[in-house]
Amino acid sequence: MPIDHHQPYDDSNIFARILRGELPATKVLETEHSLALHDINPLAPVHVLVIPKGAYVSWDDFAANASEAEIADFVRAIGETARKVGAEPQGYRMLANTGKRAGQEVPHLHVHLFGGQPLGPMLA
Ligand code: 5GP
Repeated sequence: MPIDHHQPYDDSNIFARILRGELPATKVLETEHSLALHDINPLAPVHVLVIPKGAYVSWDDFAANASEAEIADFVRAIGETARKVGAEPQGYRMLANTGKRAGQEVPHLHVHLFGGQPLGPMLA
């Protein structure tokens, strides 16, 4: 069920639970402020989610409230993840659903990284 991305952060969401170690995840990369994990329901041969460790509901929340260090770490973690899974140099797509109208289901910011095949005009 898509979420209202202006709601306060709810720390019972799936990614918060993964970050606390309460639920398992297949980790691809971990940095000081970010974590990359394989999506549980991959839509492409490479489908990784990159999340900040901080409590941010959405891209909007992150862009407005994260520190410069968190933002830099997150941007670099996405690039490093793409290289680690071989999506770079082949080519890949990043996508962050933000809010109900975009179909965001988990109220913790996540950037989807797709690759491993030629990608059509839209995915996820
Ligand atoms: P959204 O629609 O919010 O942009 O994407 C949520 C993504 O989280 C979906 O692609 C979904 O497959 C993934 N997902 C949902 N639950 C889990 C989980 O428990 N573990 C992992 N690794 N991914 C999940």
